[in-house]
Amino acid sequence: MKASAFSYVRATSVGNAIELLVAHGERARVLAGGQSLMPAMNLRLLAPEWIVDIGRLSELRGISVSGGLVRIGALTRHADVLNSPELAAHAPLLRQATAHIAHPAIRNRGTIGGSLAHADPASEMPACMVALDATIVARGPAGERRIPATEFFCGICQTALSASELLVAIELPAAARNSSHFFGEFARRQGDYAIVGLAALAVVENDRLNDLRAVFFGVSDRPQPAKAAASLVKKAVTPASLSRALEALGEELDPPEDQQANGAMRRHLAKLLLVRCASKLLDRPELHAGGRP
Ligand SMILES: Cc1cc2nc3c(=O)[nH]c(=O)nc-3n(C[C@H](O)[C@H](O)[C@H](O)COP(=O)(O)OP(=O)(O)OC[C@H]3O[C@@H](n4cnc5c(N)ncnc54)[C@H](O)[C@@H]3O)c2cc1C
Repeated sequence: MKASAFSYVRATSVGNAIELLVAHGERARVLAGGQSLMPAMNLRLLAPEWIVDIGRLSELRGISVSGGLVRIGALTRHADVLNSPELAAHAPLLRQATAHIAHPAIRNRGTIGGSLAHADPASEMPACMVALDATIVARGPAGERRIPATEFFCGICQTALSASELLVAIELPAAARNSSHFFGEFARRQGDYAIVGLAALAVVENDRLNDLRAVFFGVSDRPQPAKAAASLVKKAVTPASLSRALEALGEELDPPEDQQANGAMRRHLAKLLLVRCASKLLDRPELHAGGRP
């Protein structure tokens, strides 16, 4: 299928993009890498009357690290995230997760801001942002505002952005020296959207998880922090305590059913990921071998 007719305008600056969004309101859509918007338009899931192309706004591109803060411009492509030495050093979780996004052709055009604004519940980046305690920087006619990632995702393809706001950047704390991360997902094929995934960040000291932010994706309409993981923090993790955490996780999750998996299958996969996560973070392979749900 082909998209319905639309008018196209290329923004000349961030200010100009916002003016265009204010002028056209809900009838307009921002075009970044086009890797989600164009398929949705071609399938007639979306039919905006105006396309505001921000693709050439170089001020929205780039990665910087300063004073313990990592800032990533909205137009930074997935491929740039993957190849960034700064992110490899200061946000290794993001780099690992990005390798699971689609294929090189899509990663060469798709942007981190587009991925977050699109807010697909099976996407890797939203869950990573919640795990990393990131802040989403939005700019609109009233100026700039900062939205914690925990409050940014509001439902399937729904965010806290208004129709006249542009996502301009993402800010996150640089990884502490004693922090570790885990990323895992189950997908039917490499590059497919995940059936279930888990992004986690932890501080590990003396074989204990002293802090743990474990966030699932693909199990809800938005990234879902695992409350059950809290029972593994600041204690010796044993097969018995892990088993209790898995039971609590099973009760906490109420995953949807679709063509890929039913709720019970998703719950099972989520438990497997939590076992792998604890095992990897604590570097204890026996937990993985013995703690299968
Ligand atoms: C075959 C295929 C497989 C894929 N697999 C995966 C996968 O496994 N995991 C995954 O996460 N993604 C996957 N994607 C999607 C890909 O990651 C997209 O790049 C991403 O979701 C959207 O980024 P984009 O820059 O292309 O945004 P666009 O498609 O241009 O825009 C997406 C949405 O966000 C809005 N938007 C974009 N930028 C901004 C901004 N700065 N401010 C406000 N609104 C904005 C647009 O208006 C639109 O509504 C896949 C895509 C394809 C085609």
